[in-house]
Amino acid sequence: KLHNTIQELKGNIRVFCRVRPLLGDEITSNEDPTMISHMNFPDDDGKVVELEKLNDANPNESTISGKKGKYDFMFDRVFPPTSTQSIVFEEISQLVQSALDGYNVCIFAYGQTGSGKTFTMEGATDGDNAELMGMIPRAVEQIFRSAADLKEKGWQYEVEVSFLEIYNETIRDLLGNGKDNVKHEIRMVAANSNEVAVSGLTHVKVTTERKISDLLRKASENRAVAETKCNKRSSRSHSVFCMKLTGRNIHTEETTLGLLNLIDLAGSERLKDSGSQGARLKETQSINSSLANLGNVIMALANKEHHIPYRNSKLTHLLQNCLGGSSKTLMFVNVSPKEECFSETLNSLRFATKVC
Ligand code: ADP
Ligand code: MG
Repeated sequence: KLHNTIQELKGNIRVFCRVRPLLGDEITSNEDPTMISHMNFPDDDGKVVELEKLNDANPNESTISGKKGKYDFMFDRVFPPTSTQSIVFEEISQLVQSALDGYNVCIFAYGQTGSGKTFTMEGATDGDNAELMGMIPRAVEQIFRSAADLKEKGWQYEVEVSFLEIYNETIRDLLGNGKDNVKHEIRMVAANSNEVAVSGLTHVKVTTERKISDLLRKASENRAVAETKCNKRSSRSHSVFCMKLTGRNIHTEETTLGLLNLIDLAGSERLKDSGSQGARLKETQSINSSLANLGNVIMALANKEHHIPYRNSKLTHLLQNCLGGSSKTLMFVNVSPKEECFSETLNSLRFATKVC
């Protein structure tokens, strides 16, 4: 048995693997179920995902250290295809709570296009099926519920929301009105703090959960407009949903400030440079380098390195006060069970074990 990495729970960085189910005609089509049948999942709180590829159509693709065919990866938690949104949320609810206590939190979804990142973060709509709600609406719900509970103890919270997209290393405001022609720069709030601000970005104070769903709708309209101009844009950009939670206790005068970031990353699939030119090439390079840099930043933090390369990409620059220090980071690595996705799945799992 070849263990690539035995990943341990290290510091404030955790990685959860989520495998989506086969969907619709994927189940009945010629899809080779080899891969899913050889992904072994633990029963309850086990922490291993095991991939085995027996029908090796392309042996070169699955060779590691001269051995082929079998890989083990360990994560802090693995969610098999049967895991519901509420089961997944249960595992992150404490992290969400800690933002109310004044921690800065980042929750990422990493994976190839079609692996379930947006399903995990935003969820899906199917009539009134509340079970399909993703992590963002569930986190919002929990924050308002907890804030209401904490009121009895004298805590008053102010909730401010921003939502942006990073496409080709350019920031776009998703809560702005229509066309966003403003150039948004990342700046330090003060010379002696590491708090960052984005110039010209819309921040909306919200007092009810209901208001946030209006904002999410607005963001998806804004994205839809951009999508028609650039096909597949949403899978080639990072989206960052941020809640700023400012608390004050009217009895004790204690204050807290926490940031909760939920980030749907650009698709991690390796896009072939060869043949692509101009805009597509630039896009490819910008995704590759910003995802690689995110990995480098997380790795540098885990290794307690002196220099953390936050400034090498817009995403890590933006999140620099939410990565490292006392911040808490969780990465979902989303994978598809499809046979044809095997090599991308392997890639994602390798990335995820590397960052820990
Ligand atoms: P990504 O954002 O990574 O490109 P999506 O979240 O859009 O992927 O998922 C691709 C498709 O799979 C969507 O139709 C989505 O609704 C569906 N899907 C993803 N994960 C699940 C899941 N756990 N259960 C049911 N459907 C899912
Ligand atoms: Mg998506």
